Amino acid sequence: MPARTTRRQFIKDLTAGTAALSFLPGVSVAGWRTRIKPAGSPQNIVVLGAGLAGLSAAFELEKAGHNVTIIEARKKAGGRVYTVRGFEDGQYAEGGALSFPSDHEFTWGYVNDFHLPIRSSFKLGFDAMANLEGKSFRVHFDGTADIPFDLTPAEKSAGVYRMPFVYMSRFMRDVGNPRKGDWPPDSLRDLDQVSCKQFLQDRGATDGAITIIEASQLGLLGFGLDSISALDSVLTEAITSNAPFYELGGGNDQLPQAFRDRLNGAFKKKSVVQRIDQNESGVTVTFTRKGQIQTLTADRVVCALPFAVLKDIPVSPSFSADKQRAINELKLTPVTRTYLQFSSRPWEQSNLDGSGLTDLEIQSTYSPTLNQPGSRGILTSYTGGQRALDLGAMTDRDRQKLVLRRMGNLFSGLDSRFESSTTVNWQDDPFQLGAYTYFQPGQLTGLLPAAQAIEGRIHFAGEHTSAWHGWMNGALESGNRVADEINQASAIESIELRSR
Ligand SMILES: Cc1cc2nc3c(=O)[nH]c(=O)nc-3n(C[C@H](O)[C@H](O)[C@H](O)COP(=O)(O)OP(=O)(O)OC[C@H]3O[C@@H](n4cnc5c(N)ncnc54)[C@H](O)[C@@H]3O)c2cc1C
Repeated sequence: MPARTTRRQFIKDLTAGTAALSFLPGVSVAGWRTRIKPAGSPQNIVVLGAGLAGLSAAFELEKAGHNVTIIEARKKAGGRVYTVRGFEDGQYAEGGALSFPSDHEFTWGYVNDFHLPIRSSFKLGFDAMANLEGKSFRVHFDGTADIPFDLTPAEKSAGVYRMPFVYMSRFMRDVGNPRKGDWPPDSLRDLDQVSCKQFLQDRGATDGAITIIEASQLGLLGFGLDSISALDSVLTEAITSNAPFYELGGGNDQLPQAFRDRLNGAFKKKSVVQRIDQNESGVTVTFTRKGQIQTLTADRVVCALPFAVLKDIPVSPSFSADKQRAINELKLTPVTRTYLQFSSRPWEQSNLDGSGLTDLEIQSTYSPTLNQPGSRGILTSYTGGQRALDLGAMTDRDRQKLVLRRMGNLFSGLDSRFESSTTVNWQDDPFQLGAYTYFQPGQLTGLLPAAQAIEGRIHFAGEHTSAWHGWMNGALESGNRVADEINQASAIESIELRSR
């Protein structure tokens, strides 16, 4: 999920003083990080998928004394936390997760526990550019802008980054803690029945305001504001509204690596899950490794594979109808990121940080090198939904030419400094099939509980099973949830065995 714009909401609040701070719509932090303690006899656990969900589940389960084996299709752990390296001057860019706020309790907690190098992901005082409906305008670092649309007075004074708050802040205050069993509160439940666009139109948002919101973080979910639940939009704004954003200096892939370094159990890399069978006493996972078919049997399995992948893996006996519906119907947003490296950073000379909001083919831009040393600079086009599919389907050369041309609508002096380009296209990766889950109208209340539910001896983790979906925090939160589920189940089984 994008984070480049939301941090400015915070800056705006800082610059507006404490009165504005008290206005901040809030969501409770995750509530607690599971600090599970040994309970019951140690169990043999197989974790499928070494993204942050699988890794954090394995880490917490090992701490509680269980024996854990991880099966991962790739050579390396990390999944959607993937740092793209190999640019000139040792520069790098994130292929997946970009940044996180300090109230993402699980992400913040682990990066601190592991003493990873946290730094802010923005630079105070740098502005952004917008190019919407053919009009180009500067967006000041606090979100104020001379927006060339007919807006209501409230929309005008909100500026670009706080535009969603004009219509959502009242609801954002009610979000509370999505980890609680009775979530969402009654005051929000009906919002899940309408799309974000319908919600905005029903409340009188002008076309100009909707254009601005569509160009911001909500526009990078699913296939536009029509496709996402209003409840999910309110939730997304709430869980990204409270803090400035941070990143790991040197690359976010240090977080999955830190988990790997601390795990003792077997890590079966380049091992692709092919089938899952369970009975009353255990689960058998069939996977291919180096061309060979292998099996592993465990007391319990943590399935931390994206549902889009799990959908095509045979499971016996079949999952419940509710679970299968969640697996079939929850969808991932396609995302294509195109990175162009330049010999220098002309945008920074104009006091611009490289962020751009557009309704062009490139959708949005940011500069991964904002806080990196070196004279070279990288600009990234970050597209979601149909634009991601369209850009992803182009030849490398055509895409590079188009992205460079469209970036020129935002920043000057790029052509002569352009050096090279590379692309990350999540929907074409066979082990991801998309970037992050989006919830269509009806799905947050209808499918999230089923996505989380245990099926016999199989427990489900992954960003798609968390209210913090699309965030590292969601993956980590879900890993902690399943570790807790398994630990409790093992305690109950131990008591039952003793009482026989
Ligand atoms: C473009 C993009 C932008 C993002 N921006 C942010 C952001 O700014 N901030 C933030 O906090 N989060 C962000 N996220 C979200 C965050 O990266 C994810 O929520 C999180 O990393 C998901 O972790 P996971 O463990 O649920 O899934 P994954 O990371 O997808 O892990 C699943 C694992 O399963 C493996 N696998 C798949 N199929 C098989 C198989 N058959 N057999 C064995 N293994 C298999 C995969 O290789 C992978 O390692 C972003 C993600 C993307 C893609």
